[in-house]
Amino acid sequence: MSQSESIAALLSLLRERQSFLITSHARPDGDAIGSAVGMMHLLDAMGKDVQVVFADPIPFIYGYLPGVKRITHNLPATPPDAAILLECGSIERSGFERIDAAMTINIDHHLSSQHFADFNWIDTDAPAAGAMVYELAAASGVKISPAMATCLYTAVLTDTGSFTYAATTARTFALAEHLVASGASAHEIAEAVYFSNPPGKIRVLGLALNNMVLEGEVAQTWITQEEMARAGAEPEDCEGIVNYLIGIAGIETAAFLREVSSDSGAPEFRTSLRSKGSIDVSLVAERFGGGGHRNASGCTLAGPLDFARARIVAELHAAGSKTVQPV
Ligand code: 5GP
Repeated sequence: MSQSESIAALLSLLRERQSFLITSHARPDGDAIGSAVGMMHLLDAMGKDVQVVFADPIPFIYGYLPGVKRITHNLPATPPDAAILLECGSIERSGFERIDAAMTINIDHHLSSQHFADFNWIDTDAPAAGAMVYELAAASGVKISPAMATCLYTAVLTDTGSFTYAATTARTFALAEHLVASGASAHEIAEAVYFSNPPGKIRVLGLALNNMVLEGEVAQTWITQEEMARAGAEPEDCEGIVNYLIGIAGIETAAFLREVSSDSGAPEFRTSLRSKGSIDVSLVAERFGGGGHRNASGCTLAGPLDFARARIVAELHAAGSKTVQPV
């Protein structure tokens, strides 16, 4: 199916149904929340009954998104006509064990997305799931409200690394222009996302940068649970730390490991991977059961810390990052 055929088929599915559940992945980021709440505004405008449910808390910085307070954390008792999963490679990634609905719809822009749903629309050229919701809204004839534009602009801004990743094209800027013309305030959104950090976020950044180790073209760092507590940081405060590492000249791949407790209580590490050249870190993440994009991916590594660090650095070297920096 072409992209326009997928959009037309999805619009028919939406028009034929009345009740919808919208969700996205666990530990939601700007695209997960912005695309889900943007989709909520679209379905509202189409006269549908909509619930947005996330397994995990919404990071503080996204509290400004219009409609974000309608997000709840419990699945409905009555299965809706359709559950829409946005940028969520599998049901499991939502953080819910199962989602009961008459049908499931998967909207995703990740290469590693599985065709797990009854209807799958995957556009790996899209810079964000929020951009796909925009395409859907534009094709539906619904007017893009300032609230929807604010959500979708936030999704695109954050998932393109502030319009810096490879998926950022002229089309992305044209989309941003439409969203700003529709009422998204680029300045207010940037202020909320980038200039409203809690102190713990800056403290944890300091601790992580202090732990940093460089090995050839690989940069790595980590944060333990003890350091998290010392910084007074929440898990969401670690978002973006890995980008400082990949910002170092001569570094091709970077890993940030955050200690968490597994179900058995043993330490494991939520790991963010980045690359800035041709090395595909989604393939590295997949080796550990994770996934993502060529230049940004994630996975969970078994501990202890030194074991996890050694394994990920070895895989990043095996993927092509040199063990010494070329002179
Ligand atoms: P981050 O490092 O910002 O948490 O994640 C970077 C990218 O990798 C995001 O697009 C995210 O959706 C994806 N990602 C992170 N962790 C996982 C994971 O455990 N599984 C999959 N499939 N994708 C992940």
